[in-house]
Amino acid sequence: MLSYRHAFHAGNYADVLKHAVLIHSLDYLQQKEKPLRIIDTHAGAGLYKLNGIQARKTGEFTAGVGKIWELAKAGEPLPAAIAHYLERIGQTNPSGQLTRYPGSPCLVHQQLRPQDRLFLHELHPTDVQILKEHLGQDNRVKIADEDGLAGMLALLPPPERRGLVLIDPSYEVKSDYQRVAKQIIQAHKRFATGTYALWYPVVARARIDELEKSLKKSGIRNIQLYELAVRADGHEQGMTASGMILINPPWTLWQAMEEALPWLVDHLGDAATGAGYRLEQLVEE
Ligand code: SAM
Repeated sequence: MLSYRHAFHAGNYADVLKHAVLIHSLDYLQQKEKPLRIIDTHAGAGLYKLNGIQARKTGEFTAGVGKIWELAKAGEPLPAAIAHYLERIGQTNPSGQLTRYPGSPCLVHQQLRPQDRLFLHELHPTDVQILKEHLGQDNRVKIADEDGLAGMLALLPPPERRGLVLIDPSYEVKSDYQRVAKQIIQAHKRFATGTYALWYPVVARARIDELEKSLKKSGIRNIQLYELAVRADGHEQGMTASGMILINPPWTLWQAMEEALPWLVDHLGDAATGAGYRLEQLVEE
């Protein structure tokens, strides 16, 4: 039984990093005219109301996209990847008021070209319905109410020979961490040249250490990790950091994150409680 709803968390600091990485990667891959297959294994509802009950209940976006939106309005210079991310959020909010947040399906859809295809998976019955209302009319987009990790394998290798896979689970079950690693290793066997972007939360550091270890010993080359911690690791409940693990990242992403991550720590982190970042090449090319 799924209880996670992304509407409570849309636009939080984790989404800022995740979506900045996603947008940068997609821009890079679209520099070539050739068709691209984008797979989003855990799509969510696609578009969120920031003035809705769920977002207002947690207020998480105010410490994420909301803060950056205000800084930009006040004339604060932004790192290029964050400025670019904010431009895309602005497209969803043409009135100049930040009232809506585009999730990964809508962000990708904004930049989908006629030759590209977007495959979305979502298991929550309400969210898959909302997703269909937003994107179901576009025949370049396929929406499946199926398990995204199994769906990803079925879609690989892509006939387009070029692909970006976003893996963004809600990690409601502890075994998700192991399953994600196992499925990515399988996916890479089918399609070794694809770009894979895996999101992870740091709730218990040992689980992320294990995840990294599984990927490092898998034989997969060229793996990078980008992490933003708003507080130091702790034993209390809740997420203190989150990150992205990229396989075959665009070569431009490292430099973009080298600029963006310290800025995000300064503006979204809490220095007094151990905010920080990680920028690591987990496995060489
Ligand atoms: N990718 C979205 C974004 O960036 O806007 C957010 C996704 S949210 C973190 C995770 C979603 O995965 C939830 O909506 C949840 O219902 C869905 N989900 C959980 N298990 C799933 C599974 N096995 N297959 C597909 N979707 C799943």
